Amino acid sequence: MRYVSTRGDDTELGFADVLLAGLAPDGGLYVPVEWPELPPLADLRGLPFDRVAVEVTWPFVAGDVDRVAYERIVADAYASFDVPEVCPVVPLGELASGAPLHLLELFHGPTLAFKDVALQLVGRLFDHVLAARDGHICVLGATSGDTGSAAMDACAGLDRVDTFILFPDGRTSEVQRRQMTTLTASNVHAVAVPGTFDDCQDLVKAAFADAPFREEVHLSAVNSINWARVMAQVTYYVTAHLAVRDDDGPVSFVVPTGNFGNVLAGWVAARGGLPVDRLVVASNRNDVLTRFFTSGTMSLAEVVPTTSPSMDIQVSSNLERLLFEVLGRDGRAIAELLGRFRSDGSVTVDATVLAELRRGFDCGRLDDEEAGRVIREVHHRLGLLVDPHTAVGIGVAERLADGGPLDDPDVPVVCLATAHPAKFPDAVEAATGLRPQLPARLADLFERPERVDHVPADLVQIQELLRSRLS
Ligand SMILES: *Cc1c(COP(=O)(O)O)cnc(C)c1O
Repeated sequence: MRYVSTRGDDTELGFADVLLAGLAPDGGLYVPVEWPELPPLADLRGLPFDRVAVEVTWPFVAGDVDRVAYERIVADAYASFDVPEVCPVVPLGELASGAPLHLLELFHGPTLAFKDVALQLVGRLFDHVLAARDGHICVLGATSGDTGSAAMDACAGLDRVDTFILFPDGRTSEVQRRQMTTLTASNVHAVAVPGTFDDCQDLVKAAFADAPFREEVHLSAVNSINWARVMAQVTYYVTAHLAVRDDDGPVSFVVPTGNFGNVLAGWVAARGGLPVDRLVVASNRNDVLTRFFTSGTMSLAEVVPTTSPSMDIQVSSNLERLLFEVLGRDGRAIAELLGRFRSDGSVTVDATVLAELRRGFDCGRLDDEEAGRVIREVHHRLGLLVDPHTAVGIGVAERLADGGPLDDPDVPVVCLATAHPAKFPDAVEAATGLRPQLPARLADLFERPERVDHVPADLVQIQELLRSRLS
């Protein structure tokens, strides 16, 4: 498979270069030159998760990774999960329409959020590709909470990778912070920055835009701008479909969304032939995407802190990959559109583009109070605790089933459960009176010593820190 940038630079790269580069030199994101077809569902039925993952993702890595090595890497990545199904599907009853509702549990990996599904694979792929090239990289990422710990866990102890994660000081949950600051491996670093997630992301983008610095330290990205993450997430849309239907009929997915990476993977699956009816973008009060899919106007707004902090984002990077497709793979049009967004704080796509976007996606938003009600009600009804991000998805599904796009009783709906409830214990306790317990392997998280660097939101000082800590 070959890849090109979304901003018009048509130099084609293979998977290994795309994996290591993260962001393209012109500021764009890498996308495959063509979308591969998924294998027929009948051929995947009954296979374990790691086997499905190899079959689904192989076309994206082919040419750059040896097949036997890839099978071993994928198996090893998913052996790190707490349950053999890796991403189990559990029934959640029925929606008002009569459609069956399911929860796709993506939080059984080492750091209890869906990002482990991709990053446990990405960390191992870094190691494999760098060993073959005798290379070294410096991973720099921004996190609203979960990417950081998932990336640090995935890269901890790798000889050829130093990892620096910027997080907005005081805006992550305590569990999220401690998962980053209590790792003992000396090649992973948590960096607290005053401001919001978007401020952290801007610093990361600025560091990547500084070409000499990027070269000097071999910068690489683990945010969902890295194509390999989106690729890895395609697998569980397929396994979820296999779990809820035994035929090739349609399934709808509701995805709690921030950076648009997770739901984009669903679009890639559908593009490859997975029978998907609706893909629903679920937002909290930071509803840039809901406003965009409703009006065609993307406009900057203040980030408001919510009980689902991993979705407290107002600039959804991965939307660029979808816009690139919808604009007929015209990189110059993308560069122009995003340039206008940067300079004016707002941009509107024309009606045909909006109609095309709406053909594939629906959207909805839920505020904290409604998410709390969902947590309470799911617990009351099923005895199950769900985290506030997952609750946003469930609440949006309920709303759209009531005379909306999810009201077809014959189309099962799968809500993606993106975090373990114990990652956000305060919100869950406020809603139910019950404090969810961390799995036993993390039970002493609050006793472990923390290690964190505090740095102002200043590119030069961030660069100094990286230089001083490189191994
Ligand atoms: C990262 C994250 C999201 C948002 O995922 P995107 O791929 O950025 O849309 C949602 N929920 C949780 C728990 C997360 O960690």
